[in-house]
Amino acid sequence: MSTVDAVNNAVNDDPSRTEAVPTSAGLTESIDPTKSTDPSDAQWLARAIELATENVANGGGPFGAVIVRDGVLIAEGQNRVTASLDPTAHAEVSAIRAACQVVGDFSLAGMTLYTSCEPCPLCVSASLWARLDRVVFAADRDDAARGGFDDREFYELFARDRATWPMRIDSVRPVNAPEPFDAWLALGDRTDY
Ligand SMILES: [Zn+2]
Repeated sequence: MSTVDAVNNAVNDDPSRTEAVPTSAGLTESIDPTKSTDPSDAQWLARAIELATENVANGGGPFGAVIVRDGVLIAEGQNRVTASLDPTAHAEVSAIRAACQVVGDFSLAGMTLYTSCEPCPLCVSASLWARLDRVVFAADRDDAARGGFDDREFYELFARDRATWPMRIDSVRPVNAPEPFDAWLALGDRTDY
């Protein structure tokens, strides 16, 4: 059995992978990966998983990601949170940063992010900001939870009132709070993003 077939079978044979988490918030919904019929998806996911497993041996977290445009690899990323003392250095964010440098643009429109594990809320948001066309993942938030990671926990936080969060978020609104946006809107040659 090829690696591609193994990945396809692993996805298609596991009924637990088709169950979406019932919730009213779009951010917390699981995506059904069996909807994919593109054989190249399995190949790119295999590379993301390879990067993730390699990273463990190199002092990083068990996460890897690749960004692809028109069947061509643009950039790869691995989790470097502990190695770089950077809590935002998730594999997907690392891949997004690298891809933007490769193409010389802050937009990754037209590209697909493949990641070894369902992107956490940070990485889903980073993918939206990067204007990626598509995100494809292998393992999910439950696998990450088994590894001791908070992806599922943070998804569940977003579905709850902020008053229940372990981190307090306060809105303080001084009179000049809108001032930066006035300056932004008054700027004639700004770069919208
Ligand atoms: Zn993440």
